[in-house]
Amino acid sequence: MNVGTEVEICIGHRLMDYLGKCANPHGHNYRICVQATGNMKKRDYGILLDFSDLKDALNKVLAPFDHAMMLRDDDPLVPFLVAEGSKVVKMEHNPTAENFAEFIKTQLTMLLPMEWKVRVYETTKSYAEV
Ligand SMILES: [Zn+2]
Repeated sequence: MNVGTEVEICIGHRLMDYLGKCANPHGHNYRICVQATGNMKKRDYGILLDFSDLKDALNKVLAPFDHAMMLRDDDPLVPFLVAEGSKVVKMEHNPTAENFAEFIKTQLTMLLPMEWKVRVYETTKSYAEV
């Protein structure tokens, strides 16, 4: 059995050590789709995972990212933006859709220990899934 939800969120980012367009600071309207898989037992009242618990967990994971700059922790923009009061999320790895999907999956698994599939759309047609 699978249950899932999705949210849209605005996040800025840029990629380090990269020569494409995403090397420049810019933003995306990310669409994040998550799916939990598990086996229901009769005592579960027909609910694998309460949708409100699912949404609460996803909102908790994503709240720091909403209208923030998502930057690799060694990006020289980090201290500048933090000093002038901007909302910044420092990532261990380059803030690609792939790494963001991995991060979300790890965080969701800690909050709700289930099997998770996470899909991060960086544009309307391009996504990374883990
Ligand atoms: Zn980008």
